[in-house]
Amino acid sequence: CGIVGYVGQRDGLDVVLSGLRRLEYRGYDSAGVALPSAGRIEWRKKAGKIANLEAAIEANPLPSGQVAIGHTRWATHGAPTDQNSHPHVADRVAIVHNGIIENHDQLREELPGVEFSSETDSEVAAHLLRRELDGGADLLAAMRTVVGRLEGAFTLVAVDAQDPERIVAARRNSPLVVGVGEGEYFLASDVAAFIAYTRDAVELGQDQIVELTRGGVSVTTFDGAPAETKEFHVDWDLEA
Ligand code: GLU
Repeated sequence: CGIVGYVGQRDGLDVVLSGLRRLEYRGYDSAGVALPSAGRIEWRKKAGKIANLEAAIEANPLPSGQVAIGHTRWATHGAPTDQNSHPHVADRVAIVHNGIIENHDQLREELPGVEFSSETDSEVAAHLLRRELDGGADLLAAMRTVVGRLEGAFTLVAVDAQDPERIVAARRNSPLVVGVGEGEYFLASDVAAFIAYTRDAVELGQDQIVELTRGGVSVTTFDGAPAETKEFHVDWDLEA
């Protein structure tokens, strides 16, 4: 339902949680965050309101970091439980996903021996990415391979604990915008998530992949060709 990502100098968790709150008006049933830290993925996720997630983080604090992703879920596959909330983590990789992966059953069958910890269509993407990464691909190459396998509508966002300065995201039939600051970049399903920080944005087109680091943003097609993007400036104001 709602997606937020951040790469920069601020506290990533603060930025992501404030972005998720800005997306609350869209409705959701669960929320979660993930960040790479010291070679591991750290995450918290909770069914219910963002306040539940914040309480879980307060009870069990996360390390600080300047790269983070977050999600508010509107369940399509699997009940709104803590386990089914996003992020989904497969060892070194964490993903959040909006939309539906239509061929998730078939893809699961290609992962014999993999233990799934949710009933979602989304989790399969985490395990597929992990397989590519463990096989030596970098996160961008892994994303390119995995989105080539997915059917349906999706925005898929991933971080790799072994390459912790980077977020990679892909979109097909599901919105994704990048907020461009100075040495900091935002990723969201809706500009409302980041306009408190920047009003310069780039709208991703169909079947595009974006890579964010502190050094900049690069957008390519699913095939790896340079992509045309649409830059725009947000000049409307947030209501309250
Ligand atoms: N299909 C996914 C799920 O049920 C994502 C739903 C969403 O867009 O929030 O977990």
